[in-house]
Amino acid sequence: MSDCLFCRIVAGELPADLVAQNEHAVAFRDLNPQAPVHVLVIPREHHQDIGAMASASTDLTGQVLALSAEVAKQEGLAGGYRLVFNTGANAGQSVFHVHAHVLGGRDLTWPPG
Ligand code: 5GP
Ligand code: ZN
Repeated sequence: MSDCLFCRIVAGELPADLVAQNEHAVAFRDLNPQAPVHVLVIPREHHQDIGAMASASTDLTGQVLALSAEVAKQEGLAGGYRLVFNTGANAGQSVFHVHAHVLGGRDLTWPPG
């Protein structure tokens, strides 16, 4: 998917502030952070959203969740953090390559907007 922003980050064609990566997934800081820690965790393989990825591979879905948890630990979020998958336009998804938002470092309110 050469026209996908996050595929281009995975390919190294666009710069990103990487914080962790493994064979299956890549984690990098959000360009427009909504909390002191705001990291995006994405599979290297293109899937448009969490539903598509989960249907294609529960193993890959687990890899993305596991790397998200590692990032939270690495970023010192032992007191709590939020993992968000905006899914579809009505939920505010703007990049259609599935990504987990790892948010923390401040008190997070509920319900979200
Ligand atoms: P969504 O709205 O799809 O849930 O989240 C997309 C996120 O990607 C947004 O939080 C936005 O700030 C972030 N983003 C968009 N373009 C870039 C980029 O080129 N680099 C990085 N690091 N983050 C981006
Ligand atoms: Zn992609």
